[in-house]
Amino acid sequence: MSNEFLPFSKPSIDQATIDEVTACLQSGWLATGPRVKQFEADLQEYLHAQSAQVLTSATAGLQLVLQSFDFKPGDEVITTPITFVATLNTIVQAGAKPVLVDVDLATYNIDVTKIEKAITPKTRAIMPVHFAGVPVDLDAIYNLAKQHNLRVLEDAAHAIGSYYKGKIIGSFGDTQAFSFHPNKVMTSGEGGCVTTTDKNVADFINIMRFHGIDREAWNRNAKEGSQHYDVVKPGYKYNMMDIQAAIGIHQLQSLENFIEKRTKLAERYQQLLNGWPELTLPQMPEYDIRTTWYIYAPLINPETAGVTRDEFMQQMKEHNIGTGLHYSAVHLYSYYQQEFGYHRGQFPNAETISDRIVSLPLFPDMTETEQDRVIETMATIFGRKI
Ligand SMILES: *Cc1c(COP(=O)(O)O)cnc(C)c1O
Repeated sequence: MSNEFLPFSKPSIDQATIDEVTACLQSGWLATGPRVKQFEADLQEYLHAQSAQVLTSATAGLQLVLQSFDFKPGDEVITTPITFVATLNTIVQAGAKPVLVDVDLATYNIDVTKIEKAITPKTRAIMPVHFAGVPVDLDAIYNLAKQHNLRVLEDAAHAIGSYYKGKIIGSFGDTQAFSFHPNKVMTSGEGGCVTTTDKNVADFINIMRFHGIDREAWNRNAKEGSQHYDVVKPGYKYNMMDIQAAIGIHQLQSLENFIEKRTKLAERYQQLLNGWPELTLPQMPEYDIRTTWYIYAPLINPETAGVTRDEFMQQMKEHNIGTGLHYSAVHLYSYYQQEFGYHRGQFPNAETISDRIVSLPLFPDMTETEQDRVIETMATIFGRKI
């Protein structure tokens, strides 16, 4: 058995990417410039999006989109407890209250049949997460949004390249935010992208991601030339660098290949782990989708496994295999308990997932030999013969 540490995730960086970053450095233009422009054009084309705007992170994108919704005190946003905490943090930062709805045990996605009961006169938006790249049932969500006049912000951090009923995520609906963090399906180092069909959201992002500066506003009102600008809002510093875009441009060109390799490995896990009573394997929804397989995350059943999830992760580490925890349910964090009164017992499915879920190693360059080592180690930990 190899002693080398196997991480649960690792970005694939090819020579073309390294050359592009070098060329960017040599060009003398490091901050936002031509490569960002190209990356945005490439993303817009790949996603069939009305508009695609890159930023320093998905979190920055979520923050600006939610801020553009202009919440009033007491406004509510419905979301899921099984997500990265940025989903909820950005709701709070935008001045709204996160209202949680339990998830579906099969897909780990928000249970769309429970959303309507959570809608109140204060509800302004639904913020679903396409967990692991599996799209939530968007027809159901957009129907509810239409009936109740709500905005929809899809947290698509895991879902660049995901399809829902034949349509790529980002090509339809209201607004989506994608992440290019190095652990995600594709990377730009750090980075994110917002796609939207709402021109007001796109205009808001354009101004807020760079200091609130509106060059057009000045040019509309003055003839002095483009070295002048007006400041129309107290904006942020969320613009992506050309160095980041240099990475992202080539990652996007490899994305279909990444997804293909992830899918092959994930399906191999599904096959080889099938029928193990120690595990509950990830399940797909009944409607037509393509997932990115951002993570491969089964549940560890302690009753049959003889170990808890945390013990399992520890023992994998002792065997030099990294695993990930995506995610502890957000309503179990002290801030959300103290500030919003959430507590254990409120969302039983989320809590089951939170206590049992583990992300096994999965990345495009992982070999079948490495995957076999993961499975053999799991068999050892569970005391199984394979
Ligand atoms: C990673 C992630 C984010 C944040 O993405 P960043 O680009 O790191 O800001 C938001 N939501 C979910 C569900 C994520 O997994």
